[in-house]
Amino acid sequence: MNDCLFCKIIAGEIPSSKVYEDEKVFAFRDINPQAPVHVLVVPKQHIDSANDISAENLDSVAACFRAIPAIAAAEGLSDGYRVINNCGKAAGQTVMHLHFHLIGGCELGEKIV
Ligand code: AMP
Ligand code: ZN
Repeated sequence: MNDCLFCKIIAGEIPSSKVYEDEKVFAFRDINPQAPVHVLVVPKQHIDSANDISAENLDSVAACFRAIPAIAAAEGLSDGYRVINNCGKAAGQTVMHLHFHLIGGCELGEKIV
């Protein structure tokens, strides 16, 4: 998986604006933010997409969701936030390393869901 952009960011080979890190999770600011707060929450373990979540890597995914409330609180999102995953081409997934968009800091009125 050495050609993976997010693996390189996690390894520090490509710079990022890190907001959180633990044993299993890395989170950094999206380079093209869609809201005042737009953080990408990424498992350190390379998983291509939500389609590839399995019993073997579920702990990495769970660790992301354990981290999200702490990241949201640190970012001041006490009024709420949205978590989005794009899975596959039709959904607009452009980086094939599982990630969750944590978005907030404004009224998220124009809902898709
Ligand atoms: P997705 O379209 O769901 O695969 O999301 C990929 C996200 O990665 C997009 O929102 C991009 O803006 C973001 N992105 C791409 N390259 C970088 C980078 N070097 N640093 C931070 N975010 C990035
Ligand atoms: Zn990767």
